[in-house]
Amino acid sequence: MRDTSLLQLALGVTPPWQVARADFDAEAHRLDIHIDFTPGSRFSCPGCGAAACPVHDTDAMTWRHLNFFQHQAYLHARVPRVRCDARGVRKTTVPWARPGSGFTLLFEALVMTLVSSMPVAAAARLVGEHDTRLWRVIPHYVDEARARMDASAVTRVAIDETAARRGHDYITLFADIDNARVLFATGGKDAATVAAFATDLTAHGGDPDAIDEVCIDMSPAFIKGVADSLPEAEVTLTNSTPSKSSTRRSTRCAAPGKKARPC
Ligand SMILES: [Zn+2]
Repeated sequence: MRDTSLLQLALGVTPPWQVARADFDAEAHRLDIHIDFTPGSRFSCPGCGAAACPVHDTDAMTWRHLNFFQHQAYLHARVPRVRCDARGVRKTTVPWARPGSGFTLLFEALVMTLVSSMPVAAAARLVGEHDTRLWRVIPHYVDEARARMDASAVTRVAIDETAARRGHDYITLFADIDNARVLFATGGKDAATVAAFATDLTAHGGDPDAIDEVCIDMSPAFIKGVADSLPEAEVTLTNSTPSKSSTRRSTRCAAPGKKARPC
């Protein structure tokens, strides 16, 4: 492919970076795009932000990018390490990928969209990657999203445990009923999980005393945990065994010391 300007526009690559060449292999279903910087370019230091540091050397890297039609696409570039007067030699970042990732930001965005609605293994099959590679991406964005999470308006919570794997290795999930989002997940299925949730809720601007309704199954551990850690909540008990129609019968009852509400 001789004319690289279309690829340059499509990728949004800006100076000093430019698309140097692209190699398309129809048999291998693969497009390799080589990006390079203009010789003599200077880059800012990733450590202290000092501008116009000279390039010390480069590190050749490859990133999986969004497919080019049905063909897998990869970006290649030599990433500069700059010489900073204050911090010494530091590897710079590139605008199209996170440091340390083997995927571009756009590919990671696709992965995160997929895994929000399907198991990671299914998403991995769809994009043709091993799921362990996707699992290295997911925690970064989950942690980032949880750091931004605002739980100040949460008043109704559903709690349920699920087996993390076959056997009896459980995790407990806490969901915001009104906004259909998972607020917190932790190992175990005992009363301590509710205490951990209350601590995490507080850390995200929420108030355990503002939780006025909790849906749980008939687990004595959860009932005790709610009574201890979410003391203002009325409890709705759900039958943990789904019926054939997949609906769950629920009965409202009261946490210890609370009045029961009718179904
Ligand atoms: Zn520096």
